[in-house]
Parts: sequence; structure tokens; C-alpha cells
Amino acid sequence: MATMVTLDQEQLKQDLIDTGRWIDGNRWCPATSGNLSAWLDAEQFLITVSGKGKGELTPDDLMTVDASGNPVNTPKRPSAETLLHSLIYRRFPQARYVFHTHSIYGTLISRVIWSGEIVFRNYELQKAFAGIDTHEVALKVPVFGNSQDMVALAQEVDTHLDSVQSCQAFILAGHGLYTWGSTVKETRRHIEALEFLLECEYKSMLLLK
Ligand SMILES: [Zn+2]
Repeated sequence: MATMVTLDQEQLKQDLIDTGRWIDGNRWCPATSGNLSAWLDAEQFLITVSGKGKGELTPDDLMTVDASGNPVNTPKRPSAETLLHSLIYRRFPQARYVFHTHSIYGTLISRVIWSGEIVFRNYELQKAFAGIDTHEVALKVPVFGNSQDMVALAQEVDTHLDSVQSCQAFILAGHGLYTWGSTVKETRRHIEALEFLLECEYKSMLLLK
């Protein structure tokens, strides 16, 4: 049984390493920003250590934290944003991966729409999100003011989630986006679709000026 767990962890680490390279290739986590995590069980998850370039992750750059985001059996330091990963795993029991990027379009748009929500309508690609099967349903992505106080920010996100029926992603203004999924493939699809939609919205704003 112990061997199984080890093998699974190796695969999860490889998923995060491969995803980090893919994200870095798209320049969605510049200058060591962002963090990637994978669920281990109800009590712990793997997350990238603070301050590592996402394109050059090694298994050593992934640490285990408990459900509250505290390091488990390691002197390594997790990112302060680990708390938001904890919150997502707690609020969305089907989530197995959480990716947080600092992309250009997510940053730019949320400097204009810096609170409330970004609403995507009539894009076929909205269907890339789990649970959405038509472009006719608006995809709403909440935007929260950025903060260095992660406890307060996590509380704000938590309270917001109480008021909505579904949520696939959220954005921190001028900072970056969070999305999650039940498989690595699904979570990568969510990131890629959001980046596409954000770029479309940004360019639409320029066109409509
Ligand atoms: Zn961040």
C-alpha cells in the first residue's frame, strides 16, 4: 500500500512539473510567480515551494502541506497563497488540482474591472469549463481586490462562495487567477480557456474604444 502512495505522489509531482513547464512556455507565471498544487487526500496536498521558476521545477520544489496549508515534515516554506489553495480544496471536494497564474491579460483586465465580476457571454469556449455545456449561459468569474493579508482575502473569497451556485475560477485584481479541476487535463483546459477568454475581452475593449 505504501508503494502505491509513493507512486501516486511521483505521478502527481510529475503532473505539476510538466504543467509548470507548459505554463512557463506560455509566460503565465513570470519571475517565479504563481503556484501549483495537487490534492493528496482530505488532510494534505502538494504545492510548489515559494520563489521557484515554474519552468524549472524539480520534485524537490514540491512540498506537502496539511489541509490548512501548514508544512508537513519539511523545513521548506510554502507560498503565503497556500491558504487560497486550502480554501478551494475545502469548498470544492471534487478539486484535485489548483493552478494560480499571473498572466498578462488577467492582470490587465482586472486593473480595469477591479471588483465584482468579469462576465463572459456567447463565447463557444465557455464550454471548456466542467459543468458548462452551452455558450448561452454566462460564465461569471469573480474579481477580488488584491491583498497581502491572505487570511482576510481567503475569508472574503469564502464568503463570496456562499452566495453563488457555482464558481470555476476567480481573479485577484492586478495579480492573477485561480482555477481548479478534477484532473490535471481538466485544470489545464480551464487555465487555457480563461487565458483565451481574457485575451478576447481585452482586445474587445480596445476594439470598442
Ligand atoms: Zn499570486
